[in-house]
Amino acid sequence: MIWEAIESYSPTIATNDKNQNTKIIYTYLMKKNVQIPRIVEKLPNQRWGDIWRNMHMANIPTAWKTTVYCYLNQIIPTEEKRHRHNLTDSPACKKCGWLDTLKHRVTNCGAAKTIWEAAKVLLVKIWPDSQIHDCFQTLLVLDPPTKHNKFVTVWLASGFLHYQLTKPLHKIEEFLHMLKEEAAKLETKNDKSSQILKELRLLKLNR
Ligand SMILES: [Zn+2]
Repeated sequence: MIWEAIESYSPTIATNDKNQNTKIIYTYLMKKNVQIPRIVEKLPNQRWGDIWRNMHMANIPTAWKTTVYCYLNQIIPTEEKRHRHNLTDSPACKKCGWLDTLKHRVTNCGAAKTIWEAAKVLLVKIWPDSQIHDCFQTLLVLDPPTKHNKFVTVWLASGFLHYQLTKPLHKIEEFLHMLKEEAAKLETKNDKSSQILKELRLLKLNR
């Protein structure tokens, strides 16, 4: 119910005024008699309608979607979050000592950084003229500011977030292997000339 309401919320009525935006979404949801997700209240300027639609996109593995759901709603118990709720003495990352936030985990913690770099390289294969802020908006927010090759862009971002947040080792070979395995499943399910496979081939995973 909540997802339907958010999805049917039209981002075109959004304004740049943060409070105004929150109010519009809030009023809309109250009319529908549903509870507003806390993350939408917290970050009202994100295009949540598009983000939820991307998260639910067909042909993306359920396990990836589940991780992305927890990531986007910020319900993963990082040390920073646990510290804020008085559940631990320190907000520091147990692996490296930096402030343990979600962004730290997916872009900066030890070997996770090499996967973040690899994901950016893969994104450039799909989208050669993308800028650094496009990478952030795509890989960290699941909201690529382009409609071009939309499936593979969202697929890559979901796989990247899933790998970073669920696998402890952060090895490039393991990350690429996971992507290849899921791509192979799509190959057996879809027609060779399908748009999905056409987009996936841009990643050149088998070379
Ligand atoms: Zn760390």
